[in-house]
Amino acid sequence: MSADSMRRVAAILLVILGGAAPWGAGSGAPASASANDAMVATIASARERAATNDPRLKGAWRFEEGGWIYVHLEGDPRAMGYQHGYLLAPEIEDAFAAVSAGMMHSTERNWEFFRKAAHEMLWPKIDAEYQQELQGIVEGLRAHSGSKLDVDDIVAFNAFEELPEYYVPWLNKKEKAANAPNLKSPGNCSAFVATGSWTKDGKIVMAHNNWTSYRNGERWRIVFDIAPKNGYRILMDGFPGVIASDDDFGINSDGLMVTETTITQFQGWDPNGKAEFVRARKALQYAGSIDEYTKIMLDGNNGGYANDWLLGDRKTGEIAQLELGLKAHKLWRTKDGVLSGSNWARDSKVLKEDTPEFDANNKESSPNARRARWDELLRENKGKIDVALAEKMLGDHADTAEKKEDANERTLCGHVDGSPRGVKEWEWQPYYPGGAVQGKATDETMTKDMRMMARMGHPCGGDFLAKPFLAAHPEYAWQEHYLRDMKAGPWTEFRAGQTGKE
Ligand SMILES: [Zn+2]
Repeated sequence: MSADSMRRVAAILLVILGGAAPWGAGSGAPASASANDAMVATIASARERAATNDPRLKGAWRFEEGGWIYVHLEGDPRAMGYQHGYLLAPEIEDAFAAVSAGMMHSTERNWEFFRKAAHEMLWPKIDAEYQQELQGIVEGLRAHSGSKLDVDDIVAFNAFEELPEYYVPWLNKKEKAANAPNLKSPGNCSAFVATGSWTKDGKIVMAHNNWTSYRNGERWRIVFDIAPKNGYRILMDGFPGVIASDDDFGINSDGLMVTETTITQFQGWDPNGKAEFVRARKALQYAGSIDEYTKIMLDGNNGGYANDWLLGDRKTGEIAQLELGLKAHKLWRTKDGVLSGSNWARDSKVLKEDTPEFDANNKESSPNARRARWDELLRENKGKIDVALAEKMLGDHADTAEKKEDANERTLCGHVDGSPRGVKEWEWQPYYPGGAVQGKATDETMTKDMRMMARMGHPCGGDFLAKPFLAAHPEYAWQEHYLRDMKAGPWTEFRAGQTGKE
């Protein structure tokens, strides 16, 4: 038996005995076919029997619909973590491999670097309840599949939006690292929130499509229904193994509606701050108002994954935009208006201090061209906006720079794989396999019953096919192992407490 298999078996036994001792991390290869298979299989089935009978799984479930995986989690933090890790174990292992490969590729840092950052910098400032939830994920994963991932791996993975493109460039600058890769903070998503005379029924409508690499985006297919012991019930989209929505679209049972788009060319990081994924999850779980949301996001702001948060409060009909820089931030709010986002900052202080390189006047850049399109499209439809129309808007292909229909990096439904320009502001090279990977929409009435619409894949319904793409663009061959087809599903309604197709 190889040392690797020995460790694996020992670990499995520990889990069966109810332990969960941490050991060396790693993304080593799984035990290969060998004479040990029979023993491993026996142990695996014993482990699964023990795990399925675990009382922590009581009350949790999963089902698949419309290309999405729906999971219901409930109880105390450790139990919810365990349910999350157990129910999504195959998806977490798969997503961890794809995401960690991307983090190491772009930063030219090894995985141990990210584990160390998670352990030393992030972990001590994570609230106890989320530490327990993250530990629970590791326990559930191990119980399901004998996973070798430990809590440092899971914390670094949860921070995949903030460590590689906020912390690392800050560190490179601080250490004056020679030949450091050119890293740019991401610019994810197109979104809006509208209320008052802008919408059909005068109540809030909110919609969002997630822009990311297709490699990660094809895996961004979870609908989380979370019933925590403390705080509000949550319905949100999300990523396997991550405790926040992270592309950020969610509603809570006190009527708060939350989404965001990421601030392009943001620079800055506070190593003493609290991880963004923790603040974002906490705010969706505990905020019942725009003010409470703002307060939680500002508490320990580390600058990671700096976003323009678009918020709605169904109790008051008010919407807001929280532009959350690190050195500066600003909150706008209204009971009659529309607020859109496509990765641009607008407050003069945030622009000057947090995004000094961003060119707000370049009409040909992806953020600004989409900003112009949102203005045009929302104005044209003033008074008519509802969820059905919002779904159509998320699949819009009008390019305001070229003044024609052309699905590319400048359209609300992004298709950067079709663009010879790429998006230089995010270091997305020509034909980068990224763009809009899924969409969601909801309104005040749906939020009251904890419902939302979601479509997996490009919101326009177009498919991305990996094989012909890689044949045409060998420069992305390093992604071959992780890049999959991303076929669009139908717009599908999900609600809290749903147990399957009904
Ligand atoms: Zn499209």
